[in-house]
Amino acid sequence: MALATINPFNGEHVKSLDGSTASEIDVALAGAASSAPIWAATTFARRAALMRNVAAILRGQSESWAQLITLEMGKIIREARAEVEKCAVTCEFYAEHAERFLADEEIESDAGLSYVAYFPLGTVLAVMPWNFPFWQVFRFAAPALMAGNTAVLKHASNVPQCSLAIEAIFRDAGFSEGVFRSLLIPGAQVQGLIADPRIHAVSVTGSEATGRKIAAAAGAALKKTVLELGGSDAFVVLADADLELAASIGVAARYLNGGQSCIAAKRFILVESVADRFLELFRRRAGALRLGDPGDEGTDVGPMARADLRDELDRQVQDSVRMGAVPVMGCGPVSGPGFFYRISILDRVQPGMRAYEEEIFGPVAIVIRAADEEDALRIANDSRYGLGGSIWTRDIGKGEHMARRLQSGAAFVNGMVRSDARLPFGGIKASGYGRELSYLGIREFVNAKTVWIK
Ligand code: NAP
Repeated sequence: MALATINPFNGEHVKSLDGSTASEIDVALAGAASSAPIWAATTFARRAALMRNVAAILRGQSESWAQLITLEMGKIIREARAEVEKCAVTCEFYAEHAERFLADEEIESDAGLSYVAYFPLGTVLAVMPWNFPFWQVFRFAAPALMAGNTAVLKHASNVPQCSLAIEAIFRDAGFSEGVFRSLLIPGAQVQGLIADPRIHAVSVTGSEATGRKIAAAAGAALKKTVLELGGSDAFVVLADADLELAASIGVAARYLNGGQSCIAAKRFILVESVADRFLELFRRRAGALRLGDPGDEGTDVGPMARADLRDELDRQVQDSVRMGAVPVMGCGPVSGPGFFYRISILDRVQPGMRAYEEEIFGPVAIVIRAADEEDALRIANDSRYGLGGSIWTRDIGKGEHMARRLQSGAAFVNGMVRSDARLPFGGIKASGYGRELSYLGIREFVNAKTVWIK
């Protein structure tokens, strides 16, 4: 089956690529399997040297990778450059720290010597989304490879050139072909791969629906999974918040990447006494954002990645409006070529509306009003998701206390939720399970083996 690059800015078909054939898939899996023991026996120093080469290639050709990202999924060019740099930083982070993160850990017991030692699992299948087409892959690959695993990538079908570019980067950095392979296949073909005995574990970043299917298939095959799924992060503004700061960061937290980020601030939960004032500040800043050509340096928000995603977003918005939600700004697609959706704010969102219950993956800020602080926390936790969330208050003690009560994998006080190679990243509830990044991320795809010696 052919895959294609469609430019989201103008809807033009740019390029078709042949999908991987059955024999190409077999060759890739065989190569990953035969490379696995060799790569597992490679020293940390050697793995780190190659990973640093990857960082250098990312930086050396940063502009061309950034342009490819922008072309295939519509991210504005400034954000695309930052994405490439973040990948390089993360490769260097694991090059430097992987050996320490996976060092033997002695544990006192009745043995003469007992300890935990970490060994790679084999080949990890990565199923990845288009929204950060480089970052999602490197966030998985840098720790998985540094731990001594080999990897097979199935990237999202709308970013096939990014998928091949990443494979080429690893190859050019000196990794043998079997250590990192990319397959151009549709999602429907993934189940067969999971069942293949040459795959030992699966890492998926994507929607809740995909996560459930992959977890079921991996469960049937008894294979370890890490699921990084959707989110509906709360952005809780308390009465004593610095409203100017909260509004300015809130706009960035919602509209970054055209609103297509798992940890975007999706639900603005405002304590009623400051709701109107915050909303006015937020609206003014959001209204100043420039929607346009993602390749232009001056653009703040680009198109959505695909027409079907834009249309589904609009259905979520219009259904909610029919049930009483109030459009404050935008709330509709832009006519003409390209997959643009207006920079939008939807106020007075209530339980039962799609905008309340579902993930809103695009440039639409959802506003929910709360009676007081406790009510705000209750609403924040009234979500099927549990990825991130933030609390805005001048009282740091109160903010920390509320952050600890937020049902999420990450809680920020007076800051925008973001990922950082040094800090663990992941969710609870329908946002999935397992952690990426930091020392926890590299310990997901290893066998933590107990060694006991009399
Ligand atoms: P998606 O539709 O679930 O696709 C993600 C990946 O899964 C793609 O490679 C897709 O392939 C594949 N896939 C689709 N159906 C499949 C199936 N039945 N079996 C196996 N694989 C299948 O998600 P998306 O629209 O690309 O990405 C947006 C979602 O990802 C949002 O929900 C977002 O919140 C979430 N996300 C989460 C994180 C996190 O860290 N928690 C980070 C980023 C994004 P095809 O393209 O071929 O369909």
